[in-house]
Amino acid sequence: MKQAIGRASCYGSAMTIACSDCGTLQDLPPLQRGATLVCPVCRSRLERTAGRSLIAALACAIATFLLLFPANLLPLMQVSMLGMSRGSRIYSGVARLWEHHWVIPAILVALFVMILPLLRFGLLSMVLALLRLGRRPHWLGRGYRWAMHLDSWAMPDVFLLGAAVGYSRVAANLPVTVMPGGFCLIGAALGCMLTRVSLDRRTVWRAIGMEQEPPAHAVGAISCAACELVLPEDQLLTPCPRCGLRLRARKPVSMMRTLALVIAGFVLYFPANLYPMSTDLQMGTHVSHRIIDGILDLFGAGLWPLGVLIFCTSVAIPLLKLAGLSWFMFSVKRASRKRLVLKTSLHRFIDEIGRWSNLDVFTVAVFVPVLQFDSLASADAAPGSTAFILVVVLTMIASQVFDPRLMWDAALEFRGG
Ligand SMILES: [Zn+2]
Ligand SMILES: [Zn+2]
Repeated sequence: MKQAIGRASCYGSAMTIACSDCGTLQDLPPLQRGATLVCPVCRSRLERTAGRSLIAALACAIATFLLLFPANLLPLMQVSMLGMSRGSRIYSGVARLWEHHWVIPAILVALFVMILPLLRFGLLSMVLALLRLGRRPHWLGRGYRWAMHLDSWAMPDVFLLGAAVGYSRVAANLPVTVMPGGFCLIGAALGCMLTRVSLDRRTVWRAIGMEQEPPAHAVGAISCAACELVLPEDQLLTPCPRCGLRLRARKPVSMMRTLALVIAGFVLYFPANLYPMSTDLQMGTHVSHRIIDGILDLFGAGLWPLGVLIFCTSVAIPLLKLAGLSWFMFSVKRASRKRLVLKTSLHRFIDEIGRWSNLDVFTVAVFVPVLQFDSLASADAAPGSTAFILVVVLTMIASQVFDPRLMWDAALEFRGG
């Protein structure tokens, strides 16, 4: 396997890492506070010290972890109608979806909003607290790798925005009161965002285990896909000494897996948009809401900023992800040397923005439990919600399994040939 991390170009002098976006080996000089270091080849941000603090990240992670319990257990909002009142809890939305046989949305909402956030923030709090205490048990690197891996799948912040849209939809017709669980959800979502902003992942990796001396010859080096530790090529397929991930030159079967997921995403994109996300019963009449109907309703109610938001997250971003990933795969096949920096930046954007597309399904999970007034007014999920959440999940996995370094490899091989 001569397919190492690629180019052997080095910059500066200090700790060697390999850029995870283009594969270039480079040395990171110790950064001053407030500085940002950018990959000179693909313009990816390698390190930023401004506003980052291990103690602040620890405080935010613990606060988020603690707030997640009341946010999950207490009512988020309450709706009153003709003397009757109904509350919405996160688990009541999940239970309602499950009872009505919307099994896939129920399981995924429970994972993204209830289970994975608790795992992510519990694990992250434990790792940062141990580092603060100067303790380094052997599982610390693995624990931190999992906490970082769960980052995009733990979504209290996305759910808060979904709850805000659900609140606006219901409040347009009925009186709604925000309950204690809603305030705790706001706190947990803010804590989630602040943790992300204050956490410098590279500082934590260095605290777990410093980068080593680079191999004598840079060609023939491999880098860990999780912690970016650079190691000699002969350690291929062995576990990374810092985070335990099996070392590989590139993500395995990246192109085939991305292609299969993108095809499945394209196939599901049409039912997701053509079938209704939810159905309402209003005074004995069933009304179906596709994604586009929900957007038009928001515009009609004068809530155009929310309408634009839902259009971007539910219609534009999934399409951008599918089109972008198709472009990247085509680029690898054609060994294209054009717009490599743009494609790498777009891949990074797609990877980071993808989780926000769950917004519309979360909106349904919030307003379905409060609109349960029998024949007067009730709401339920519909087939489009299953297709839609699957499109979001498949495209999220696709952007994670696609290895952007393949575009740089292909371009370099073309140039070399
Ligand atoms: Zn780079
Ligand atoms: Zn590693």
